[in-house]
Amino acid sequence: VTVVDYNSADDAAWKRRLVQAEINGRRVNEAIEPAPGTARSAVFVCECGYLGCNATVEMTIAEYEAVRTDFDRFLVVPGHVAEEVDTIVERHAAHLVVVKPDSEAQEMAQSADERTP
Ligand SMILES: [Zn+2]
Repeated sequence: VTVVDYNSADDAAWKRRLVQAEINGRRVNEAIEPAPGTARSAVFVCECGYLGCNATVEMTIAEYEAVRTDFDRFLVVPGHVAEEVDTIVERHAAHLVVVKPDSEAQEMAQSADERTP
């Protein structure tokens, strides 16, 4: 029983790190995103949260804004879905949109999202 408890605690900590890394990726993209009216498209980073991921995806500002319609929606490139915390809700040619059904991940994503009132 003790071993199982340790494992689940490690698992929870690992998931928190993963979600935090995805939130950090989203902050990078918010910094990348050009001011309205200044550019039609930009190169955004994958928000998968995997250590060392340097995948990027070029998309229009409108496409990125379509990803960011809710606090728990994240942009990842195909193949970069963290199945432990992510559920795919949209598939596009060069990117996927994932959400986080886990309640703790939801809280982390919401409290980190300055766009959601
Ligand atoms: Zn990635």
